[in-house]
Amino acid sequence: MKIKFKKVSKNYGIVSALKKTNFSINDGEFLLLIGPSGAGKSTILKLILGQIKPSYGQILINGTIWGNNKKAIDQTRRKIGVIFQDYQLIPDKSIEENIALALDIVSYPKNRIQTRIDQVIEQVDLSTRRFLFPSQLSGGELQRTALARALAIEPEVILADEPTGNLDIDNSWKLIKLLKEINKSTGTTIILATHDLDLIESLNTRTISIKNGAIVKDTAKTTK
Ligand code: ADP
Repeated sequence: MKIKFKKVSKNYGIVSALKKTNFSINDGEFLLLIGPSGAGKSTILKLILGQIKPSYGQILINGTIWGNNKKAIDQTRRKIGVIFQDYQLIPDKSIEENIALALDIVSYPKNRIQTRIDQVIEQVDLSTRRFLFPSQLSGGELQRTALARALAIEPEVILADEPTGNLDIDNSWKLIKLLKEINKSTGTTIILATHDLDLIESLNTRTISIKNGAIVKDTAKTTK
């Protein structure tokens, strides 16, 4: 999925969260979106997800203007998996059931659901936890469950909003390693918003730095 921001601004009332941002993301990229809290990282992710619309400017997905056609939004959203700092799992459903629900929502073929659950649970190393409930898991396990859920739908893009925010260093690395493996083996685009400086320094990948709603650096220099 090709994503292009053309002079995209987003205002919340008098707050200018994003100011005339330009950048393009190609298929299969691993992109870090960095900046202090309040910089505008989540706003970018929400715009890509179609949860909010730009106040000015255009977002193009595969060359088509994003956000006008409800049917197109529904279709594109099915190709985007999301993970959050606070996991956002459903507490009264088991790990398996949480993943099954995500597959159900995208109308994944019923006869393939169990196989797909088995695959992703294996991939994130949670085979021994599959029948447990979120309250019975550690933070690292919760985030890997959230990743399995995002991955299950075979997304073209995974958006990760501060996914290591509640994790210790070992679990943060385990998660990042998984994201890198997924990116490499399936070509899934990963967009990772973080202010975790340790991660930033050791991940040798394209990085867009954002401050007060403006891009101050893009290591790919694709901004025009
Ligand atoms: P980050 O993800 O980098 O922490 P955000 O994109 O969440 O930053 O926020 C950017 C700015 O927009 C901040 O000043 C924030 O307070 C403001 N903002 C975000 N969402 C809303 C909202 N729904 N209503 C008003 N202001 C908001």
